Amino acid sequence: MELQSKLAILADAAKYDASCASSGAVKVNSLDGKGVGSTGGMGICHSYAPDGRCISLLKVLLTNLCIYDCHYCINRRSSNVRRAAFTAEEVVKLTLDFYKRNYIEGLFLSSGIIRNADHTMEMVIDVARTLREAYDFRGYIHLKTIPEASPGLIEIAARYADRISINLELPTQKSLDVLAPEKSIVRTRHAMGRIRNRLDEAHDRRKNGDKKLRHATGQSTQVIVGADESTDADFLARSDDLYGNFKLRRVYYSAFSPIPEPSSILPVKPPPLVREHRLYQADWLMRFYGFKTSEILTPETPNLDLELDPKLAWALRNRQDFPVDVQTASREALLRVPGLGGTSVQRILQIRRHTRIRQADLLRLRISLAKIQPFLKTADHNPSAYLLDSDRLRARFLPKPKQLELFAK
Ligand code: SF4
Repeated sequence: MELQSKLAILADAAKYDASCASSGAVKVNSLDGKGVGSTGGMGICHSYAPDGRCISLLKVLLTNLCIYDCHYCINRRSSNVRRAAFTAEEVVKLTLDFYKRNYIEGLFLSSGIIRNADHTMEMVIDVARTLREAYDFRGYIHLKTIPEASPGLIEIAARYADRISINLELPTQKSLDVLAPEKSIVRTRHAMGRIRNRLDEAHDRRKNGDKKLRHATGQSTQVIVGADESTDADFLARSDDLYGNFKLRRVYYSAFSPIPEPSSILPVKPPPLVREHRLYQADWLMRFYGFKTSEILTPETPNLDLELDPKLAWALRNRQDFPVDVQTASREALLRVPGLGGTSVQRILQIRRHTRIRQADLLRLRISLAKIQPFLKTADHNPSAYLLDSDRLRARFLPKPKQLELFAK
Protein backbone atom coordinates (compact mmCIF):
# COMPACT_ATOMS: atom_id res chain seq x y z
CA MET A 1 0.00 0.00 0.00
CA GLU A 2 1.29 3.49 -0.83
CA LEU A 3 2.44 5.74 1.95
CA GLN A 4 -0.24 8.31 1.09
CA SER A 5 -3.04 5.73 1.36
CA LYS A 6 -1.69 4.54 4.69
CA LEU A 7 -1.56 8.12 5.89
CA ALA A 8 -5.19 8.67 4.87
CA ILE A 9 -6.32 5.58 6.81
CA LEU A 10 -4.15 6.02 9.89
CA ALA A 11 -4.63 9.76 10.31
CA ASP A 12 -8.38 9.27 10.01
CA ALA A 13 -8.29 6.41 12.54
CA ALA A 14 -6.42 8.62 15.01
CA LYS A 15 -8.96 11.43 14.97
CA TYR A 16 -11.12 9.78 17.64
CA ASP A 17 -8.43 10.31 20.25
CA ALA A 18 -9.06 13.67 21.89
CA SER A 19 -5.98 13.67 24.11
CA CYS A 20 -4.28 16.37 22.15
CA ALA A 21 -7.02 18.00 20.15
CA SER A 22 -9.20 20.93 20.96
CA SER A 23 -12.73 19.66 20.98
CA GLY A 24 -16.11 21.26 20.67
CA ALA A 25 -15.51 23.02 17.36
CA VAL A 26 -18.13 22.58 14.70
CA LYS A 27 -16.71 20.22 12.12
CA VAL A 28 -16.48 21.94 8.73
CA ASN A 29 -14.23 21.49 5.72
CA SER A 30 -13.67 22.95 2.28
CA LEU A 31 -13.82 19.73 0.27
CA ASP A 32 -16.66 21.14 -1.83
CA GLY A 33 -14.25 23.74 -3.20
CA LYS A 34 -15.81 26.53 -1.16
CA GLY A 35 -13.72 28.35 1.42
CA VAL A 36 -10.35 27.44 2.82
CA GLY A 37 -9.39 25.13 5.69
CA SER A 38 -11.05 22.54 7.85
CA THR A 39 -11.83 21.80 11.49
CA GLY A 40 -12.23 18.11 10.76
CA GLY A 41 -9.72 17.21 13.44
CA MET A 42 -7.77 14.71 11.36
CA GLY A 43 -4.11 14.58 10.45
CA ILE A 44 -2.87 17.59 12.36
CA CYS A 45 -3.93 18.39 15.90
CA HIS A 46 -2.91 20.97 18.45
CA SER A 47 -1.47 20.65 21.89
CA TYR A 48 0.22 22.86 24.46
CA ALA A 49 3.92 22.74 25.21
CA PRO A 50 5.03 23.01 28.86
CA ASP A 51 5.67 26.73 28.30
CA GLY A 52 2.06 27.25 27.18
CA ARG A 53 2.77 27.54 23.44
CA CYS A 54 0.16 26.03 21.14
CA ILE A 55 1.88 23.58 18.83
CA SER A 56 0.69 21.60 15.83
CA LEU A 57 1.31 17.87 15.75
CA LEU A 58 1.11 15.18 13.12
CA LYS A 59 -1.45 12.85 14.68
CA VAL A 60 -1.37 9.29 13.40
CA LEU A 61 -1.66 5.69 14.44
CA LEU A 62 1.21 3.35 13.80
CA THR A 63 -1.44 0.82 12.84
CA ASN A 64 -5.20 0.47 13.14
CA LEU A 65 -4.92 -3.29 13.48
CA CYS A 66 -5.85 -4.31 17.01
CA ILE A 67 -6.27 -7.54 18.92
CA TYR A 68 -8.60 -5.87 21.47
CA ASP A 69 -12.30 -5.45 20.96
CA CYS A 70 -13.33 -2.20 22.63
CA HIS A 71 -16.88 -1.61 21.48
CA TYR A 72 -16.58 2.18 21.19
CA CYS A 73 -13.51 1.97 18.93
CA ILE A 74 -13.54 1.93 15.17
CA ASN A 75 -10.28 -0.03 15.18
CA ARG A 76 -11.51 -2.93 17.33
CA ARG A 77 -10.81 -6.37 15.92
CA SER A 78 -14.45 -7.03 15.03
CA SER A 79 -14.75 -3.82 13.02
CA ASN A 80 -14.84 -4.12 9.28
CA VAL A 81 -12.63 -1.16 8.40
CA ARG A 82 -9.69 -0.91 6.00
CA ARG A 83 -6.50 -1.73 7.86
CA ALA A 84 -3.02 -0.37 7.40
CA ALA A 85 0.28 -0.30 9.25
CA PHE A 86 3.24 2.03 9.00
CA THR A 87 6.77 0.90 9.49
CA ALA A 88 8.75 2.92 12.02
CA GLU A 89 10.82 4.36 9.17
CA GLU A 90 7.69 5.58 7.39
CA VAL A 91 6.45 7.50 10.44
CA VAL A 92 9.93 8.97 10.92
CA LYS A 93 10.04 10.07 7.29
CA LEU A 94 6.57 11.64 7.40
CA THR A 95 7.37 13.48 10.62
CA LEU A 96 10.63 14.86 9.29
CA ASP A 97 9.13 15.80 5.90
CA PHE A 98 6.20 17.65 7.48
CA TYR A 99 8.49 19.25 10.04
CA LYS A 100 10.88 20.55 7.40
CA ARG A 101 7.97 22.01 5.45
CA ASN A 102 6.86 23.75 8.62
CA TYR A 103 3.49 21.98 8.69
CA ILE A 104 4.01 20.58 12.17
CA GLU A 105 6.09 21.06 15.28
CA GLY A 106 5.86 17.53 16.56
CA LEU A 107 4.29 14.10 16.52
CA PHE A 108 1.36 12.51 18.36
CA LEU A 109 1.71 8.76 17.95
CA SER A 110 -0.74 6.13 19.07
CA SER A 111 -1.38 2.58 17.92
CA GLY A 112 -3.75 -0.34 17.89
CA ILE A 113 -2.32 -3.33 19.72
CA ILE A 114 -0.67 -5.85 17.46
CA ARG A 115 0.57 -9.22 18.66
CA ASN A 116 0.82 -8.02 22.27
CA ALA A 117 1.32 -4.87 24.32
CA ASP A 118 5.12 -5.16 24.54
CA HIS A 119 5.57 -5.70 20.82
CA THR A 120 3.42 -2.63 20.06
CA MET A 121 5.21 -0.52 22.63
CA GLU A 122 8.57 -1.49 21.18
CA MET A 123 7.42 -0.32 17.74
CA VAL A 124 6.17 2.99 19.13
CA ILE A 125 9.48 3.48 20.96
CA ASP A 126 11.37 2.64 17.79
CA VAL A 127 9.82 5.67 16.05
CA ALA A 128 10.64 8.03 18.91
CA ARG A 129 14.15 6.64 19.39
CA THR A 130 14.98 6.95 15.69
CA LEU A 131 13.70 10.51 15.58
CA ARG A 132 15.66 11.53 18.65
CA GLU A 133 18.88 9.54 18.19
CA ALA A 134 19.32 9.13 14.44
CA TYR A 135 17.98 12.56 13.44
CA ASP A 136 18.44 14.56 16.63
CA PHE A 137 14.78 15.56 16.34
CA ARG A 138 14.05 18.21 18.94
CA GLY A 139 10.36 18.74 18.19
CA TYR A 140 7.55 17.73 20.51
CA ILE A 141 6.64 14.04 20.82
CA HIS A 142 3.50 12.75 22.52
CA LEU A 143 3.40 8.95 22.82
CA LYS A 144 0.36 6.96 23.73
CA THR A 145 1.39 4.10 25.96
CA ILE A 146 -0.26 0.79 26.74
CA PRO A 147 -0.90 -0.06 30.39
CA GLU A 148 -0.30 -3.79 29.79
CA ALA A 149 3.22 -3.14 28.44
CA SER A 150 6.24 -3.89 30.63
CA PRO A 151 7.12 -1.06 33.02
CA GLY A 152 10.62 -0.93 31.52
CA LEU A 153 9.22 -0.16 28.07
CA ILE A 154 6.93 2.59 29.34
CA GLU A 155 9.95 4.03 31.10
CA ILE A 156 11.94 4.07 27.86
CA ALA A 157 9.02 5.74 26.06
CA ALA A 158 9.02 8.48 28.69
CA ARG A 159 12.69 9.16 27.97
CA TYR A 160 12.04 9.98 24.34
CA ALA A 161 8.68 11.75 24.70
CA ASP A 162 7.67 15.16 25.98
CA ARG A 163 4.26 13.91 27.03
CA ILE A 164 2.96 10.40 27.50
CA SER A 165 -0.58 9.29 28.04
CA ILE A 166 -2.60 6.20 28.74
CA ASN A 167 -6.25 6.31 27.82
CA LEU A 168 -8.48 5.17 30.63
CA GLU A 169 -11.54 5.44 28.34
CA LEU A 170 -14.21 4.71 30.97
CA PRO A 171 -14.38 5.70 34.62
CA THR A 172 -15.31 2.40 36.27
CA GLN A 173 -14.35 -1.23 35.90
CA LYS A 174 -18.05 -2.05 35.55
CA SER A 175 -18.18 0.07 32.38
CA LEU A 176 -14.95 -1.39 31.04
CA ASP A 177 -16.22 -4.94 31.62
CA VAL A 178 -19.09 -4.20 29.27
CA LEU A 179 -17.41 -2.04 26.62
CA ALA A 180 -13.71 -2.87 26.80
CA PRO A 181 -13.41 -6.26 28.46
CA GLU A 182 -9.64 -6.57 27.95
CA LYS A 183 -8.96 -3.36 29.88
CA SER A 184 -8.48 -2.98 33.61
CA ILE A 185 -8.63 0.13 35.77
CA VAL A 186 -6.23 -1.47 38.26
CA ARG A 187 -3.58 -2.09 35.58
CA THR A 188 -3.99 1.42 34.18
CA ARG A 189 -3.66 2.98 37.64
CA HIS A 190 -0.53 0.90 38.33
CA ALA A 191 1.01 2.06 35.06
CA MET A 192 0.11 5.68 35.82
CA GLY A 193 1.67 5.31 39.26
CA ARG A 194 4.93 4.02 37.80
CA ILE A 195 5.00 6.81 35.24
CA ARG A 196 4.39 9.33 38.02
CA ASN A 197 7.40 8.01 39.95
CA ARG A 198 9.64 8.30 36.89
CA LEU A 199 8.35 11.82 36.15
CA ASP A 200 9.11 12.86 39.73
CA GLU A 201 12.61 11.39 39.55
CA ALA A 202 13.29 13.22 36.30
CA HIS A 203 11.96 16.43 37.83
CA ASP A 204 14.33 16.05 40.81
CA ARG A 205 17.29 15.38 38.55
CA ARG A 206 16.55 18.50 36.54
CA LYS A 207 16.21 20.50 39.74
CA ASN A 208 19.55 19.18 40.89
CA GLY A 209 21.31 20.50 37.82
CA ASP A 210 20.81 17.84 35.14
CA LYS A 211 19.49 20.45 32.69
CA LYS A 212 20.13 18.35 29.60
CA LEU A 213 17.98 15.44 30.77
CA ARG A 214 15.35 14.63 28.20
CA HIS A 215 12.27 13.09 29.73
CA ALA A 216 8.52 13.48 29.51
CA THR A 217 7.25 16.13 31.89
CA GLY A 218 3.66 15.04 32.23
CA GLN A 219 1.01 12.45 31.57
CA SER A 220 -2.62 12.76 30.52
CA THR A 221 -5.57 10.53 29.74
CA GLN A 222 -8.83 10.49 27.86
CA VAL A 223 -12.29 9.30 28.86
CA ILE A 224 -15.25 8.77 26.56
CA VAL A 225 -18.45 10.44 27.68
CA GLY A 226 -21.88 9.13 26.75
CA ALA A 227 -20.91 5.68 25.45
CA ASP A 228 -22.55 4.06 28.48
CA GLU A 229 -24.54 4.84 31.59
CA SER A 230 -21.62 6.31 33.56
CA THR A 231 -22.71 9.49 35.30
CA ASP A 232 -20.83 12.78 35.46
CA ALA A 233 -20.17 11.95 39.12
CA ASP A 234 -18.41 8.75 38.00
CA PHE A 235 -16.20 10.77 35.62
CA LEU A 236 -15.36 13.49 38.11
CA ALA A 237 -14.64 11.00 40.90
CA ARG A 238 -12.20 9.21 38.61
CA SER A 239 -10.58 12.47 37.52
CA ASP A 240 -10.19 13.47 41.16
CA ASP A 241 -8.49 10.13 41.79
CA LEU A 242 -6.12 10.61 38.85
CA TYR A 243 -5.22 14.24 39.59
CA GLY A 244 -4.77 13.50 43.30
CA ASN A 245 -2.81 10.26 43.09
CA PHE A 246 -0.86 10.62 39.86
CA LYS A 247 -0.79 14.39 39.28
CA LEU A 248 -2.11 14.02 35.75
CA ARG A 249 -1.73 17.14 33.64
CA ARG A 250 -5.11 16.71 32.02
CA VAL A 251 -8.07 14.44 31.78
CA TYR A 252 -9.66 14.91 28.37
CA TYR A 253 -13.41 14.35 28.15
CA SER A 254 -14.37 13.21 24.71
CA ALA A 255 -18.06 13.04 23.85
CA PHE A 256 -18.75 9.68 22.28
CA SER A 257 -19.33 10.08 18.58
CA PRO A 258 -21.05 7.27 16.71
CA ILE A 259 -18.55 5.41 14.57
CA PRO A 260 -18.92 3.60 11.27
CA GLU A 261 -19.53 -0.12 11.85
CA PRO A 262 -20.93 0.50 15.36
CA SER A 263 -21.32 -2.24 17.92
CA SER A 264 -24.96 -2.99 18.70
CA ILE A 265 -24.51 -2.21 22.41
CA LEU A 266 -23.55 1.41 21.80
CA PRO A 267 -26.06 4.25 21.93
CA VAL A 268 -27.29 5.32 18.52
CA LYS A 269 -27.03 9.03 19.31
CA PRO A 270 -24.10 10.95 20.74
CA PRO A 271 -24.55 12.80 24.03
CA PRO A 272 -25.15 16.55 23.79
CA LEU A 273 -21.80 18.24 23.21
CA VAL A 274 -22.57 20.61 26.05
CA ARG A 275 -22.14 17.69 28.48
CA GLU A 276 -18.49 17.46 27.49
CA HIS A 277 -18.19 21.24 27.98
CA ARG A 278 -19.78 21.09 31.44
CA LEU A 279 -17.37 18.31 32.47
CA TYR A 280 -14.42 20.47 31.44
CA GLN A 281 -15.86 23.35 33.49
CA ALA A 282 -16.34 21.11 36.53
CA ASP A 283 -12.85 19.69 36.09
CA TRP A 284 -11.51 23.27 36.06
CA LEU A 285 -13.37 24.01 39.29
CA MET A 286 -11.71 21.02 40.97
CA ARG A 287 -8.22 21.86 39.77
CA PHE A 288 -8.13 25.63 40.16
CA TYR A 289 -11.03 26.74 42.35
CA GLY A 290 -10.79 24.35 45.29
CA PHE A 291 -14.09 22.55 44.70
CA LYS A 292 -14.54 18.97 45.82
CA THR A 293 -16.43 16.57 43.56
CA SER A 294 -18.96 16.07 46.37
CA GLU A 295 -19.76 19.80 46.20
CA ILE A 296 -20.26 19.81 42.45
CA LEU A 297 -22.38 16.66 42.32
CA THR A 298 -24.26 14.66 44.91
CA PRO A 299 -25.77 11.15 44.95
CA GLU A 300 -29.16 12.81 44.35
CA THR A 301 -27.89 14.82 41.36
CA PRO A 302 -25.15 12.69 39.76
CA ASN A 303 -25.19 14.61 36.47
CA LEU A 304 -24.25 18.20 35.74
CA ASP A 305 -26.91 20.75 34.94
CA LEU A 306 -26.67 21.20 31.18
CA GLU A 307 -28.34 24.62 31.29
CA LEU A 308 -26.03 26.30 33.80
CA ASP A 309 -22.31 26.26 34.33
CA PRO A 310 -21.35 24.15 37.38
CA LYS A 311 -20.18 27.07 39.54
CA LEU A 312 -23.42 28.94 39.04
CA ALA A 313 -25.41 25.75 39.67
CA TRP A 314 -23.45 25.23 42.91
CA ALA A 315 -24.06 28.85 44.02
CA LEU A 316 -27.78 28.50 43.41
CA ARG A 317 -27.84 25.37 45.56
CA ASN A 318 -25.82 27.08 48.31
CA ARG A 319 -27.44 30.49 48.53
CA GLN A 320 -26.88 30.55 52.30
CA ASP A 321 -23.16 31.23 51.55
CA PHE A 322 -24.00 34.49 49.73
CA PRO A 323 -23.73 37.41 49.37
CA VAL A 324 -19.97 37.55 49.73
CA ASP A 325 -18.42 40.91 50.65
CA VAL A 326 -15.92 41.90 47.98
CA GLN A 327 -14.00 43.98 50.53
CA THR A 328 -13.41 41.35 53.20
CA ALA A 329 -14.00 37.88 51.72
CA SER A 330 -11.11 35.44 51.46
CA ARG A 331 -9.61 34.60 48.09
CA GLU A 332 -11.25 31.15 48.30
CA ALA A 333 -14.71 32.65 48.93
CA LEU A 334 -14.31 35.13 46.06
CA LEU A 335 -13.27 32.33 43.70
CA ARG A 336 -16.64 30.72 44.39
CA VAL A 337 -18.64 33.71 43.22
CA PRO A 338 -20.16 32.98 39.80
CA GLY A 339 -18.62 35.30 37.24
CA LEU A 340 -15.32 35.80 39.08
CA GLY A 341 -12.28 34.04 37.65
CA GLY A 342 -8.75 33.62 38.99
CA THR A 343 -7.42 36.77 37.29
CA SER A 344 -10.28 39.01 38.36
CA VAL A 345 -10.03 37.76 41.96
CA GLN A 346 -6.33 38.53 41.93
CA ARG A 347 -7.02 42.07 40.71
CA ILE A 348 -9.74 42.55 43.34
CA LEU A 349 -7.34 41.48 46.10
CA GLN A 350 -4.81 44.03 44.87
CA ILE A 351 -7.09 47.04 44.50
CA ARG A 352 -9.13 46.50 47.65
CA ARG A 353 -6.00 47.23 49.72
CA HIS A 354 -6.34 50.90 48.91
CA THR A 355 -9.93 51.43 47.77
CA ARG A 356 -13.50 50.53 48.70
CA ILE A 357 -14.64 48.56 45.69
CA ARG A 358 -17.74 49.78 43.88
CA GLN A 359 -19.57 48.26 40.93
CA ALA A 360 -17.83 50.68 38.54
CA ASP A 361 -14.47 49.22 39.66
CA LEU A 362 -15.71 45.75 38.73
CA LEU A 363 -16.85 46.99 35.34
CA ARG A 364 -13.37 48.41 34.79
CA LEU A 365 -12.03 44.90 35.48
CA ARG A 366 -14.40 43.70 32.72
CA ILE A 367 -16.47 41.67 35.16
CA SER A 368 -20.07 41.11 34.08
CA LEU A 369 -22.35 42.64 36.71
CA ALA A 370 -25.35 40.70 35.50
CA LYS A 371 -23.86 37.45 36.74
CA ILE A 372 -22.29 38.54 40.01
CA GLN A 373 -24.87 41.04 41.29
CA PRO A 374 -27.00 38.55 43.26
CA PHE A 375 -23.93 37.08 44.92
CA LEU A 376 -21.47 39.91 45.60
CA LYS A 377 -21.71 42.85 47.99
CA THR A 378 -19.83 46.02 47.06
CA ALA A 379 -19.59 49.48 48.65
CA ASP A 380 -22.60 50.60 46.60
CA HIS A 381 -24.55 47.37 46.17
CA ASN A 382 -26.05 44.98 48.71
CA PRO A 383 -27.90 42.15 47.00
CA SER A 384 -31.35 41.87 48.45
CA ALA A 385 -32.20 38.74 50.38
CA TYR A 386 -35.37 38.80 48.33
CA LEU A 387 -33.39 38.32 45.12
CA LEU A 388 -31.22 35.58 46.59
CA ASP A 389 -34.21 33.70 47.95
CA SER A 390 -36.27 34.16 44.85
CA ASP A 391 -37.44 31.10 42.95
CA ARG A 392 -36.87 33.18 39.84
CA LEU A 393 -33.13 33.57 40.37
CA ARG A 394 -32.37 30.40 38.41
CA ALA A 395 -34.62 31.52 35.56
CA ARG A 396 -32.64 34.76 35.33
CA PHE A 397 -29.55 32.79 34.23
CA LEU A 398 -31.12 30.29 31.88
CA PRO A 399 -30.30 30.64 28.20
CA LYS A 400 -32.94 32.60 26.31
CA PRO A 401 -35.38 30.26 24.57
CA LYS A 402 -34.81 30.23 20.83
CA GLN A 403 -37.65 30.95 18.48
CA LEU A 404 -38.08 27.97 16.16
CA GLU A 405 -37.85 28.92 12.51
CA LEU A 406 -40.78 27.78 10.49
CA PHE A 407 -38.75 27.30 7.34
CA ALA A 408 -35.46 26.29 8.93
CA LYS A 409 -33.27 24.21 6.66
S1 SF4 B 1 -7.07 -1.12 22.45
FE1 SF4 B 1 -7.21 0.91 21.61
S2 SF4 B 1 -7.12 0.63 19.39
FE2 SF4 B 1 -7.55 -1.35 20.27
S3 SF4 B 1 -9.79 -1.53 20.19
FE3 SF4 B 1 -9.25 -0.71 22.23
S4 SF4 B 1 -9.35 1.51 22.00
FE4 SF4 B 1 -9.27 0.62 19.93
